[in-house]
Amino acid sequence: MTDTNLNPFGGFAIDFGAGSAPVGGEATALSLADDAAPHASQVLVLGSGPAGLTAAIYAARANLAPIVLGGHQPGGQLTITSEVENYPGFPDGIEGPDLMARFRAQAERFGASVIDVEVDRVDFSSRPFRAWAAGVEYRGDAVIVATGASALWLGLESEERLRGHGVSACATCDGFFFRGKEIAVVGGGDTAMEEALYLTRFATKVHLLHRRAEFRASRIMEERAERHPQIEIHRNVAIEEVLGDPSITGLRLRDTQTDARSQLAVEGLFVAIGYRPNTGPFEGWLEKDEAGYLAVHSETHSRIEGVFVAGDVHDHRYRQAVTAAGDGCRAAIDAERWLQEHAPAEAVAATTG
Ligand code: NAP
Repeated sequence: MTDTNLNPFGGFAIDFGAGSAPVGGEATALSLADDAAPHASQVLVLGSGPAGLTAAIYAARANLAPIVLGGHQPGGQLTITSEVENYPGFPDGIEGPDLMARFRAQAERFGASVIDVEVDRVDFSSRPFRAWAAGVEYRGDAVIVATGASALWLGLESEERLRGHGVSACATCDGFFFRGKEIAVVGGGDTAMEEALYLTRFATKVHLLHRRAEFRASRIMEERAERHPQIEIHRNVAIEEVLGDPSITGLRLRDTQTDARSQLAVEGLFVAIGYRPNTGPFEGWLEKDEAGYLAVHSETHSRIEGVFVAGDVHDHRYRQAVTAAGDGCRAAIDAERWLQEHAPAEAVAATTG
């Protein structure tokens, strides 16, 4: 249901100016055909959420001309978030896509090149480090991994079949389609509360379904949902099946205490049950912690010298835009200092050759 032709950053208009447009799908195809040379930079940033773009702002202002490979969701998770009320500096709140458009414009203003491609593999065996996206090789004397995390799904066959036909993980993208309808949100954390509250703008009624009695969400968000006249909270329920063909007509529910089955008639389901870190391309290169997130040693350093880690791909404790941005800043400063101490590979070869 999400229109992939839309500006990935939503409604905020960015004037990229002549000659500084980010490389999108078409431009990538051009670079494949016309320019087989690797795209090299002192700092290669992987990911364009708050961590990646803050790293890019700092690296660009340190004259390191970073290349940012934007990932499968340019701008990161905030581009599928509604209003952000807790990012400092915006006392009236700001829409997630607008906030990320500002991050990007700021990085580009100082000379960062943001390319909207997704890294599929890397080679961190020697410097310059290498990463491939859409068949193009990119190189960096240092790399900052800030690939973030992605929304989780319930894993039901019926959920997958009805994705885009009433099942979604993005209220901001798809909420509009549910104007005047009765819908459900599943999850018990802040994301579920936020999605449920946002969806009351469109839906006549929002059923908030949680598998336990206690919520994981912050108290303020839980209270807002509880008080909202359009939200009905159902505790101790699990979704067994999403019903309907070709689009959703209801849910088959199971009471997690009594095992009793019931049906709920809804025309939409928003899945808001958490995230998985985007670590795929780094399998075998970077170490993970017990929760599957990338591990860091000594501030933002990974176990490979010159490869740094920032944001939600590493952090499963705070997971906030502002902490990710802070982490991106730290990684860029660490990378800059590390580069000062370790001359680029080509320079070493030239002086010793
Ligand atoms: P979360 O806190 O991990 O909560 C995920 C929820 O989904 C939990 O209640 C969990 O149930 C439920 N869940 C997980 N797998 C499920 C499944 N297979 N079936 C049914 N339910 C399932 O994730 P989140 O809400 O996305 O929040 C992530 C982090 O981002 C948190 O630190 C949160 O504070 C932060 N966040 C902040 C804001 C904000 O401040 N504006 C907004 C969004 C998120 P159990 O409780 O039973 O495990």
